[in-house]
Amino acid sequence: TRTLADLDPEVASRIDLELARQRDGLEMIASENHTAQAVMEAQGSVLTNKYAEGYPGRRYYGGCEHVDVIEQLAIDRLTALFGAEYANVQPHSGAQANAAVMHALIRPGDTILGLNLAHGGHLTHGMKINFSGRLYQVAAYGVDEETLTIDMDEVERLAHEHRPQLIVAGWSAYPRQLDFARFRAIADAVGAYLMVDMAHFAGLVATGLHPSPVPHAHVVTSTTHKTLAGPRGGIILSNDADIAKRINSAVFPGQQGGPLEHVIAGKAVAFGIAASPEFRERQERTLAGAKILAERLSQPDVAERGIRVLSGGTDVHLVLVDLRESSLNGQEGEDLLAAIDITVNRNAVPFDPRPPMVTSGLRIGTPALATRGFSTEAFTEVADIIAETLIVGAGDTGADAATLDALRERVQSLAQAHPLYPNLSTDENG
Ligand code: PLP
Repeated sequence: TRTLADLDPEVASRIDLELARQRDGLEMIASENHTAQAVMEAQGSVLTNKYAEGYPGRRYYGGCEHVDVIEQLAIDRLTALFGAEYANVQPHSGAQANAAVMHALIRPGDTILGLNLAHGGHLTHGMKINFSGRLYQVAAYGVDEETLTIDMDEVERLAHEHRPQLIVAGWSAYPRQLDFARFRAIADAVGAYLMVDMAHFAGLVATGLHPSPVPHAHVVTSTTHKTLAGPRGGIILSNDADIAKRINSAVFPGQQGGPLEHVIAGKAVAFGIAASPEFRERQERTLAGAKILAERLSQPDVAERGIRVLSGGTDVHLVLVDLRESSLNGQEGEDLLAAIDITVNRNAVPFDPRPPMVTSGLRIGTPALATRGFSTEAFTEVADIIAETLIVGAGDTGADAATLDALRERVQSLAQAHPLYPNLSTDENG
């Protein structure tokens, strides 16, 4: 019965501080969002106590009558949302969803063909020391040096050269849409499965603002906490009964023990929200915000400092800033924006001459601000703040304290104008 603040003030006070940090700053890490308070309520519930190995109606534990209903709701809402026949909502994370698919469809020693990590791919798409790079042979495609977009002829050539058993399409840092139909045709031509990892753009797909991979891929994986705005977790979709069966057994008992039913409840709530008109409107603002940012960062006053927008723009919820020609590096850009309370992450760009801990890029996303209610006017202001910050950062004299103070004040008024979790008080929380 003791409250968290009473029982464990060390943890409670840090949760309070984190709430304040999220409220006072602007979250522009492209893979983050502010999930609904209702999702957090479900996640912070007694469901965390429950063991439920197995699937709804086929459990290895008693007392599953309520979690069965909740997990089935999550499955039904998810399949309806994406127009898929089968879904598994149990993966604890995006990485585990990808691991389960590989476990289900290919064998150790087989070859996977995925997007190079340094060109925007994810660790689980074949990075050397990730399970995907250790268990499987890896061939990687990259982006074209001129256009900085994926060259499908090159993907096709590599597929014929390496004869992979699995082709992975999807990305963590890429500003354009993928040609899922072409990926499938290439997979079919070499007898490979096609897995699309839509972790980043799932919220856009759910609302019809991005082409859906579901009709094209053998399997689609995703996280639930990025544009989809749910709790931290993973999901797997498929339209093939046999593949779905193999995936269920690869998730449990292949990869995991008890599912996190409290997280699955949060997923069910989030999938419900994602089917609403308000969610679609939010995704529209997410896209509009990213376009505004890309446009502002393409203006001459920014370009003059050697700062470019990778691929010249964006079709999704993020912008990649290319600092290869700038005196400002990724680390410095990230730190400068942090100093005015805007959180972004530095990110290697393709053909990056700087080391991975420094990088020549910034990945800037709009989902969390759209969730916070940012309009096109608010996005225009934040784009201007970012542009001005990078311009002074890349200038000959660097950023002085007075300039940064003035920029931080503009960030603070945007944050104040867009209250976050107004019903959460730090007392209640702690
Ligand atoms: N797949 C992609 C494309 C991602 O960008 C990410 C996360 O960054 C993941 C998978 C992994 O998700 P998680 O961090 O939940 O393991």
